[in-house]
Amino acid sequence: MNPPADTVVRALTQDGSFRVIATFTTQTVQAVIKAQQTSGTTAEQLGELVTGAILVREAMAPGYRVQAILQGAQGGGSLVADSHPDGTNRGIVNLGGRREVNLSNGGLLQVMRTMPKGVHQGVVQVPRGGGIPGALMAYMQESEQVASVISVCTLLGNDGNARSAGFFVQLLPEAERSLLMIMTERLDSFPPLRSLLQNPDLTPQGLLDEILYGMPFTVTSNTEVRFGCQCSRERLLASLATLPQAEIASMIHDNKPLDIRCDGCGEEYVIGVDELLPMVQPGGMFGRATKPGDA
Ligand SMILES: [Zn+2]
Repeated sequence: MNPPADTVVRALTQDGSFRVIATFTTQTVQAVIKAQQTSGTTAEQLGELVTGAILVREAMAPGYRVQAILQGAQGGGSLVADSHPDGTNRGIVNLGGRREVNLSNGGLLQVMRTMPKGVHQGVVQVPRGGGIPGALMAYMQESEQVASVISVCTLLGNDGNARSAGFFVQLLPEAERSLLMIMTERLDSFPPLRSLLQNPDLTPQGLLDEILYGMPFTVTSNTEVRFGCQCSRERLLASLATLPQAEIASMIHDNKPLDIRCDGCGEEYVIGVDELLPMVQPGGMFGRATKPGDA
């Protein structure tokens, strides 16, 4: 059964000035948090990063994979969001023993879009006090050079359940630049997502109505996003096959099945030694070192 879906709603103002993408990512983020068994600040940061990756993909290249990596200024841990064009998304927490990714002294946001001609990559500083929403704004302006406003928020309730949403407002190229100022001012006085998310009845359409209050608009599409991982036995075997021959030979030598857990979804894979045998080239197993580290 597919996990429950969230929606991404796109709209255009009737005067052709703005396009808006609004998304509610509560189900997706809940499942990401559960798969990563995380809580507190890390859960909120991961939810915002996943929501941001969805918005960047939907806004810039809906047909391609977007990955976003967040690191604190002192390094030592990262959060990863991975958004795929089929609407599936996952997140990975890698704190390297730290309590959380500390953004109090800033940090780095790296965004990668996988395009047919290679990977488009942008890295921006997380502005002090700006958090992930501030980093996404910087990414859109500096790296994509798109006149826009982007915001995300994940709110963890006392019960540990998350509510999560985000929006992206872009001034279209033909529109007057001054309109973006008006929109920025409007969004400044707009209740922040944090307070809008307190309303349990708010929908993506309701969020659009708030953002574009008084501006007639048309909804142009409504698509689904959900938690999901692209891992599979085939992919895992393919990546094992890229290990050095000596390492594969050593695992065969140990003669024990491999227990491998997917970092993204927690799925456990047991790989039998017989599945490793075809990965060793003729002569590889006996003609080379068979101890780990001899590669
Ligand atoms: Zn997986």
